[in-house]
Amino acid sequence: MFERLKSALGSLTQIASHTTLSKEDIDKFLWDFEISMIESDVASEAIESINANLKKKLLDTKIPRSEDRSKFVREELKAAIRETFSKTKKVDALAMMRAKMMRNKKEHVGPFIILFLGINGTGKTTTVARFARLLQKNNLSVVVACADTHRAGAIEQLTEHANRLKIKAIAQSYGSDPAAVSKDAQLYAEAHGIDVVLIDSAGRIQTSKNLMEEMAKIVRVVQPDLKIFVADSLAGNDAISQAKEFLKFTDFDAAIMTKADADVKGGGALSIAFITQRPIIYLGVGQSYDDLIPFDLEEFIDSLFE
Ligand code: GDP
Repeated sequence: MFERLKSALGSLTQIASHTTLSKEDIDKFLWDFEISMIESDVASEAIESINANLKKKLLDTKIPRSEDRSKFVREELKAAIRETFSKTKKVDALAMMRAKMMRNKKEHVGPFIILFLGINGTGKTTTVARFARLLQKNNLSVVVACADTHRAGAIEQLTEHANRLKIKAIAQSYGSDPAAVSKDAQLYAEAHGIDVVLIDSAGRIQTSKNLMEEMAKIVRVVQPDLKIFVADSLAGNDAISQAKEFLKFTDFDAAIMTKADADVKGGGALSIAFITQRPIIYLGVGQSYDDLIPFDLEEFIDSLFE
């Protein structure tokens, strides 16, 4: 995963060890850095910010003359990337769910509700199923709501996943109101003492306004505790514009990047986190139920320089 971004950063730190890093060297270095970032699918807004931080650091600091120079540049680069993401919110989904589960036991506040948002084909339904599996592994009980009542096959797809995972799927017929399906799932969970409701929503792109109204209605009716945007790592700039659109209309809390296993570039996670200031909390890394791994930006930045 993310080979291009890693090798770009690796080769940049190598270049740094061979030059004196005069002002001209730094300009050339930043130029190369910018090109590598563009090639790795990092959004231009994020590149500008990292570049500005990096330039300031490199110009302001006395650069060592010794062979430690590449280490020095690596650390400055890491710090510049980190600083760029310092405003990204923190979300610990499992901790939030456990906290509500405990409250529910005492105060009957109802299940924890997660609404999954995103465009068709990004891997939303698969992610809902993998998330259900993750919750099972963490001893949380779960029900799924088939609230994509538009895409042909969506209800069967999620119901089939639910059967395999031995969990309940709440569904109505195609064309029915997604908010009503979501409410049914919430009531089912309340009646059966289930900890978490996962709502799979529609993602047709042609009628974006109706789609956003539909999402707003689900939000009004069930008041989700968490709204998670699902983005396709391979979609490049499209994923970024989708993230902006969904953020504007739904103010989602966090994102999951799917298909990271097939992503050699790696800029998508950086770009979405920077532009939305929402954290990427998990990565989809394959097609099986266990292919959902936690994502931590700090660890990701460190791993880019390994
Ligand atoms: P939806 O339309 O957003 O609900 O998308 P689906 O869940 O139906 O997924 C679309 C396709 O992407 C399916 O073929 C999935 O198997 C595939 N997919 C989803 N997540 C991943 C992932 O993390 N890695 C890979 N390689 N494929 C994935």
